[in-house]
Order: sequence, then structure tokens, then C-alpha cells
Amino acid sequence: MRKKPKIAIFSLTSCEGCQFALFNLGEKFFNFLRKVELAQCSLLEEESLKCDLFDIAFIEGNPITKDDFKILKEAREKAKILVALGNCAALGGIPEMKNYQNKEKTIRIIYKHVDNIANPEIKEIDNFVKVDFSIPGCPINGEEFLRLANELVEGKIPEIPQKPVCTECPLAGTKDCLLRKKEPCLGPITLAGCRAICPKSRVMCYGCRGIFKNINPKNFIIFLKRIRSQEEIEENLEIFGIKDDVKKFL
Ligand code: SF4
Ligand code: SF4
Ligand code: SF4
Repeated sequence: MRKKPKIAIFSLTSCEGCQFALFNLGEKFFNFLRKVELAQCSLLEEESLKCDLFDIAFIEGNPITKDDFKILKEAREKAKILVALGNCAALGGIPEMKNYQNKEKTIRIIYKHVDNIANPEIKEIDNFVKVDFSIPGCPINGEEFLRLANELVEGKIPEIPQKPVCTECPLAGTKDCLLRKKEPCLGPITLAGCRAICPKSRVMCYGCRGIFKNINPKNFIIFLKRIRSQEEIEENLEIFGIKDDVKKFL
């Protein structure tokens, strides 16, 4: 009998929302787990790495503490394929907002005593280890995870179609385009795959899946500047850490 691929899911500093998206799949996730050996899952047990080798390690969150860096390094050493799970690991995510603020001041808003609290710049995990594949979103889309993870366990590196959220908007039943109403929306530069869930609910796309490949956002930023102030545009781009990707056009 063919040996089941061994997978591990690790959380660095994070809200663990991406792992919850997996468990929210219910039976579908447990059916997926039947095809693999779940060697480790941070949400279920907080033990140190205990396998010699994984076929795939999924990493959620940001490396901030010493333990985070240790886990990340060891996961890379032990995994054949290392996957960034969600926006924090792939792009820095919401915590990256701190990079745009005075981080010494920001930490004092949260903690009374800051002496032993790590307060580094927030960086996506590919600054520290080689990442073989990234699953976008904040949180990730559970159904998309299943499609991509099924390919990964077969030893393939999947492809995510590179097109904007706008292509999914009419299919999702969005009636009025926000940009046409001169309201901001990052859908034209953001990677599709979430079924335009935010604009469908009349909330702008804030770009939680990151910008798609080979896009030139210059004209889009010029258009945004006609309808919103520089400050507001920058704030919108900071929420999911995509400001760095379009910085030269701001
Ligand atoms: S990507 Fe979003 S849901 Fe996932 S860990 Fe980061 S903040 Fe939480
Ligand atoms: S609402 Fe946003 S995502 Fe939808 S079509 Fe308009 S710009 Fe694109
Ligand atoms: S619409 Fe934009 S912000 Fe909302 S889930 Fe999709 S990519 Fe993320």
C-alpha cells in the first residue's frame, strides 16, 4: 500500500484564523485528512516538532518570537515542500501595519511592560526561508485550500489563475461596482479566488489575497488619486501589507 504523505501545520505568531478556516470545512477537511498523515497541527497540540521529515509543512502567521524563528527554521529543514498559509505568512498581513507606524510607540499601546517583548519589523516568511508555494487570503478560503492541498500531496506545485477580483464580481452577483460609484476598491489589482466576497457584501476589497502577478498598478493608482486623498489610499493599502508592492506609484 502507498504510504500516505506526511503533513504538518504550524502557527507562528498569529490569530490562527487560517487554521480555523480548515476546521470550518468540517467533514470535507476530515476527508482530506484521510489521505494524509497529519504529523503535527499547532491548533490541536502545542508540542515541539516531532517528526524526522514531512512531505509538506504549512506555515501560518508571522515570525516574531525566538520560538517562531526556531519552528520556521526546523520546519524548513524537515519539509520537502514548505507552504505559506495565508496572508500573514505570505505577505506580512495585518501585523505589517506596524511597519508603517512608530513601532516603539505602538507596542506601548498594547503592553504595559515591554522589556521582554519581541518587537521586530514584520516580514513575510520568505525573508527567512525558501517558500515553495503560498496560499493567499486572510483568512484562506477553505475550499481553495482543499483544491491546492490535494495537488500538493500528489507532489505537484499548483497554479492559481492570475486574474483580478473584478472578474469574479459579476459572477458573485454584485450589482453596483464600487469604483464606478467613486468609492475605493482594490479589486482591479487583487488576486481573484475569493469569489469577490467583500464587494458582494458592499464592502470594498482591501486586497487580502495580495496583488496578482504581472500587473502594472500605475493607472489604477492614478484613478484612485482622483477619488481619494493620498492618505486614505495609503491607509487602505497598508491594511494587508500591499503598500510595498505599489510604493513607486504612490
Ligand atoms: S492571514 Fe489572517 S486569518 Fe490567517 S493568521 Fe493571518 S490574520 Fe489570521
Ligand atoms: S466592486 Fe470592486 S471588485 Fe467589484 S468590479 Fe468593482 S472594482 Fe472590481
Ligand atoms: S474581496 Fe478582497 S479583501 Fe475580500 S476576501 Fe476577496 S481579496 Fe480579500
